[in-house]
Amino acid sequence: MYCNNCGTEIDDNAVVCPNCGVATGKTTVAEPKKKNGLAIAGFVLAFFVPIVGLILSIIGKKKSAELDGAGAKLATAGIVISAIEVALSVVYIILIIAFWGAILAMFAGGN
Ligand SMILES: [Zn+2]
Repeated sequence: MYCNNCGTEIDDNAVVCPNCGVATGKTTVAEPKKKNGLAIAGFVLAFFVPIVGLILSIIGKKKSAELDGAGAKLATAGIVISAIEVALSVVYIILIIAFWGAILAMFAGGN
């Protein structure tokens, strides 16, 4: 459509003309798709900082209920991925401790 004020071609969903700033008179605005920032952040962080990703994903999952389910799947994926990573980290830490424990035991026994 075109602006009634300046005649610039503008987006059909525009409420205000980006060129002159005058309202287009359009009252029915297409509601922007709700976004769940927490679910997105939780999912991304699940790969880098699993514990933070897990917390954000859990909060994002709760938040998705308020946002008509927005980000619900992403939050679930974030919870699963970060939970697996946290579990793997725990196994890894246990292995490291066991490894160094065995090394130290060897030295202690050698004396
Ligand atoms: Zn205009």
